Amino acid sequence: MNKISFDGQTVIVTGAGNGLGRAYALELAKRGANVVVNDLGTSVAGVGQSSAAADKVVTEIKALGGKVAANYASVADPSGADSIIRTALDAFGRVDAVINNAGIIRASAFENVPDEDLDILLDVHLKGTLYVARAAYRVMLKQGYGRIVNTSSAGGLFGDDTMACYGAAKAGILGLTNSIALAGKPHGILCNAVAPQAATRMGDNIDPETAQKFMALQKLFVNSMSPEFNVPLVVYLASRECDSTHAAYSICGGRIGRVFIGLTAGWEGPRDIAATAEDVREHFTRIEDRSRYSLPESVTGELMERVGTITSQLPA
Ligand code: NAD
Repeated sequence: MNKISFDGQTVIVTGAGNGLGRAYALELAKRGANVVVNDLGTSVAGVGQSSAAADKVVTEIKALGGKVAANYASVADPSGADSIIRTALDAFGRVDAVINNAGIIRASAFENVPDEDLDILLDVHLKGTLYVARAAYRVMLKQGYGRIVNTSSAGGLFGDDTMACYGAAKAGILGLTNSIALAGKPHGILCNAVAPQAATRMGDNIDPETAQKFMALQKLFVNSMSPEFNVPLVVYLASRECDSTHAAYSICGGRIGRVFIGLTAGWEGPRDIAATAEDVREHFTRIEDRSRYSLPESVTGELMERVGTITSQLPA
C-alpha cells in the first residue's frame, strides 16, 4: 500500500505544543511535511504564555530529522494569526494545509457562567479558527490548492451541561467550516471539521464531577483515548489524497464516524396562509419523524429542495 506522503508540503498546526496538536505535528513531520509548530504556551484555562511548549516539539521534530519552524503567536489575535502564515511562507514558501487545533477550556454550571469565559472561549476557538483559516485561505487561493481542518468538539456538536461557552464556540466552528468549504471548493480548497476525544491535560479544567465521569469512561477504552488515535483522520483530511469537504467527523475511542445535520421530511403546511400553533401541535409527530430526512448542503440547497418538493406536487 502506498503511503500518504507530505513531501514538499507545508502544514501549519496551531496549538502544537501539547496534546493532540503535538501528535499531529510529529506524524506530519515523519511523513515529510515542513511543519509550522504554533503554540502560545498557555495554560489549559488560557492564562499566561511561554515559548517553551512550541520549542519542545520543535526539538522533537528536529531529532526525527524533520523540517520545522516555530511560531509563538496567539491565534486569537488577528495579527498573530497573520504571523503564523508569514512564518510558513518565510520558512517554506507555501501553505498546503492548516490544522486549526489551538484551544483552551473553561467549564461551569450555566447559571454561573462568567462573562469573561464567553469572551475568551469565543476568541480562541471561533475567532482564532477564523483568523488563521482566513490568512491561510488567501495564500491557498493563489495556489489553487489547500486543506483546512478545524477542531470542533462533541461539546459543541452534541452539547454538555457544563460547557455552554466552549460548546457555543465549538458549534460555531462547524458553521464556519461549512461556509469556508462552500467558498473554497471551486478553488481546490477543502475544509472539514473534526471532533476529537483524548485524555490530555484539557481534562484538568473541567468540573471535578464531570472529570471523574469522563475518566471512568475513558478507562474502558484502554489506549484508544490517547492523542495518537486522533491522528490518522486528521492527517488524511490534511493530505492531497483527501477529496472530502464540508463535513464533520467524530473520533471517539478508536471509532471514526461522520457527524451530519439532517432535516426531517417534516409536515407540509399550507402555502397560501400560515399554519396555526394548533396545526403544529397536531402534526408534531410528523415534524419530529427522523425516519425520512435530507442533508441540505447550503441555504440554496434547502431552498432548491423545497422548490423540488413544491413543483413535484403541482398538477401536471
Ligand atoms: P492541550 O491543552 O493539550 O493543547 C492545546 C494547546 O493549544 C496548548 O499547547 C496551548 O498552549 C495551545 N493554545 C491555547 N490557546 C492558544 C492560542 N490562543 N494560540 C495558540 N495556541 C494556543 O489540549 P488538547 O486536548 O490537545 O486539545 C486540542 C484541541 O482539541 C482543542 O481545540 C480542544 O478544544 C479540542 N478538543 C479536545 C478534546 C479532548 O478530549 N482532549 C475533545 C474535543 C475537542
